[in-house]
Amino acid sequence: MDFNLTQEQRMIYEYGDRISKQFDHNYWRGYAEKNERPTELYKQITDDGFLGIMVPEAYGGAGQGMTEMLLFMEGLSNNGIPLLNLVVGPTMTMGLLAKHASEDMKRRFLPGGCTGEIKFCFAITEPNAGSNSIEITSIAKSDGKGGFKLNGQKVFITDANCADYAMVVTRTTARADVKKKTDGFTIFMVDMKKKGISKTLIPIAFPVPETQWQVFFDDVALTEADVLGEVGKGFNILFDTLNPERIILSGLCTGVGRFALKKAVAYANDRKVFNNTPIGAYQGVQHPLAMARSEIEMASLMALKAAWAFDQGLPAGEFANMAKYAAAEAGIHAVDSAIQCFGGNGFTKEYGMYDLYGLVRLLRTAPLNREMVLNHIAEHVMGLPRSY
Ligand SMILES: Cc1cc2nc3c(=O)[nH]c(=O)nc-3n(C[C@H](O)[C@H](O)[C@H](O)COP(=O)(O)OP(=O)(O)OC[C@H]3O[C@@H](n4cnc5c(N)ncnc54)[C@H](O)[C@@H]3O)c2cc1C
Repeated sequence: MDFNLTQEQRMIYEYGDRISKQFDHNYWRGYAEKNERPTELYKQITDDGFLGIMVPEAYGGAGQGMTEMLLFMEGLSNNGIPLLNLVVGPTMTMGLLAKHASEDMKRRFLPGGCTGEIKFCFAITEPNAGSNSIEITSIAKSDGKGGFKLNGQKVFITDANCADYAMVVTRTTARADVKKKTDGFTIFMVDMKKKGISKTLIPIAFPVPETQWQVFFDDVALTEADVLGEVGKGFNILFDTLNPERIILSGLCTGVGRFALKKAVAYANDRKVFNNTPIGAYQGVQHPLAMARSEIEMASLMALKAAWAFDQGLPAGEFANMAKYAAAEAGIHAVDSAIQCFGGNGFTKEYGMYDLYGLVRLLRTAPLNREMVLNHIAEHVMGLPRSY
């Protein structure tokens, strides 16, 4: 067993340290407060070749895997510049395309994805089905001429406004008409400029550059060429994007947690309120920070294990769910204990601690809420009865 990163992996992990000298947390926060895409930061990341980490070199990418994508996200987040768009585009969409798309589809999307000319969003959540994706009702029915008409709606679709294409998980056969509940799902690459697509903004209560949208599909015309994988068999490949989502978001949480703790330690070493002693000398301040740091490092290890399993083609669900659970809780504890350490300053814009809380707290609920993650572990890992 070797816990060392290769030289290349270390370079990817430390990229966030380098780029944050130019685009730091305050830069990120400026865009987060405006809910705007930090375009210069994305341009730099693109020019430095990081959008296509999971894309083979033949299609313009770096030919790396989930492990490197995780290290990249963790490195950025360590420096307080977490980017949700890297989750839905380069990881979920481009990663799945690289793994399962036809040659034509790869050529159509991946080179443009790597240069940032084509941007993606990922759409599975629906208002009525919620966490129970089996019950989604959006449907692409055959138009009788070899094509499909897509109807339905999706919610909380990150960056649907700036995406050129949405990777849409929908049914092609209604739930009532399939024998096995996981049959009848199809994944389409949908051109967001198509007739019949509309969207409305869902304002989000914490600062984040990415915006969330409700997207409506009204008789949107699709063709066989827009299908990723096989018609009706989308569920079979779905976890090759949902597990990476859980893994990379683990890296976002552990990174943001480390960033908050680093700031808290600097503050605690400096701030003196009793007997000319830094508040960091009190165990009441130290222990929550030390516990949070330990939780962050444990979660980070589990995320690496999940990424490693995914890259080896081994079942990654167990580790991805555990990593996502642990990282969300660790991130929340880290930011919360950092806020406490900053006292009143923890709530000011100047010190920029409280504005991180919403993001790490999100990860307890999305992409899969803590309860469903624990349901999965209880049922599939531990053999307890299904409770719902
Ligand atoms: C900022 C943001 C960005 C997002 N981005 C995307 C995106 O890009 N694409 C996309 O498709 N989706 C996206 N989502 C949607 C997200 O994945 C869902 O909100 C999430 O999966 C929870 O679904 P829900 O909101 O319908 O909650 P519900 O399914 O209604 O669940 C509500 C709560 O009930 C509890 N619960 C539900 N079922 C069970 C159970 N069986 N056992 C125990 N407790 C249970 C949980 O506590 C859960 O939090 C995003 C959401 C947010 C907020």
